[in-house]
Amino acid sequence: MDTEFQYKKRRVPLDRQRELRFGEGKISGYASVALGLLSLLAVMAYRYPAYLTTIELRQVYDAEFLQLILKYGMYFSLLLGLLTFCFNRHKRLGMTGIGLTGMGFLLGGYDIPVGPVEPVRLSLGIDWLILAFLGSVAVFMTLEKLFPKYRNQVILRDEWGLDLFYFCFNHLMISAILIYGNYHASHFHWAVSESVQQAVQSVPLLLQVGLIIICADFVLYWEHRLYHEVRVLWPIHAVHHSVEQMDWLAGSRGHFVQVFSERAMVMVPLYLLGADQSALDIYVAFAALQAVLIHCNVEIPFGPLKYLLVTPQFHHWHHSSEKPAIDTNYSAHTVLFDRLFNTYHMPDKHWPAEYGTTVRLPRSFLGQLVHPLKIFRKH
Ligand SMILES: [Zn+2]
Ligand SMILES: [Zn+2]
Repeated sequence: MDTEFQYKKRRVPLDRQRELRFGEGKISGYASVALGLLSLLAVMAYRYPAYLTTIELRQVYDAEFLQLILKYGMYFSLLLGLLTFCFNRHKRLGMTGIGLTGMGFLLGGYDIPVGPVEPVRLSLGIDWLILAFLGSVAVFMTLEKLFPKYRNQVILRDEWGLDLFYFCFNHLMISAILIYGNYHASHFHWAVSESVQQAVQSVPLLLQVGLIIICADFVLYWEHRLYHEVRVLWPIHAVHHSVEQMDWLAGSRGHFVQVFSERAMVMVPLYLLGADQSALDIYVAFAALQAVLIHCNVEIPFGPLKYLLVTPQFHHWHHSSEKPAIDTNYSAHTVLFDRLFNTYHMPDKHWPAEYGTTVRLPRSFLGQLVHPLKIFRKH
């Protein structure tokens, strides 16, 4: 089948209107707004840490050190906002950035005292959102600049705002996702075997990580495949596939039902294996980075690793709407199960020409939220 298919090259014309160029005040304007908004959110998180930050994350970072970063963020937002006035262009963006930072200062600024936090059960992950956003911009936007697959694709491409909304929504939900995931995994207590867990803990750390990756991959493979091949599940997962331009933000698009179920399912093998905490931490970091990287607009020479790991090229094919790629490449971490179950599609030199679904979905968050309900309308 593959040999008959004529692979085409993807065309990405440069959108001069949306392109960010130095010296026009647009970069400083957007940066000022982004830093202003993040600062305001951070100040609110320092004011109401019990409700706006996550217990799991609070244990990992130093809140007082982060206040120092917040201080620089606020001053940079003001500075970049003023810069738009020097350029005398995009002043509205600069004004917005300055206004947001100003509100941050009014709410207490960067020196709200940090003390012990009374834990509440359910909170919003503003801390997680801010750190993930800053980390992603630093790591993945840099990679996209260094190794772009499509140099012409602009940062502010079509529907970037929609995907940013998904990014925020899914990060804010972290507490709810973890609570639901742990609750779901606890149903499998009957399958816990102490001898298996002891055996897992007795092997070296990296081997434990490898075991986790393979077991998680198996669960994720089948979960993903069911989302594609069971008719009532597809409209939920189709939301993730509705993205038509791939970059670091594209992977954030996903219906909350899928996001919750995916995280809940993957917690089951993690729970049953009972590996060391450090092995789990390495796996979580690896999985989080890989999940973003495989959607990025990058072409990185992976060498022989591309025959082992899920890479951007491999997952871009999963998002293609071209015939030979449909319902292939389900794996999340390694290509093992796609190879094993005959769903592997990786034409060595080719990349997809088109991304998205064959039938177009609504283009708004709310439209996509209710899209899965269409299966009821039909009957
Ligand atoms: Zn899929
Ligand atoms: Zn994807």
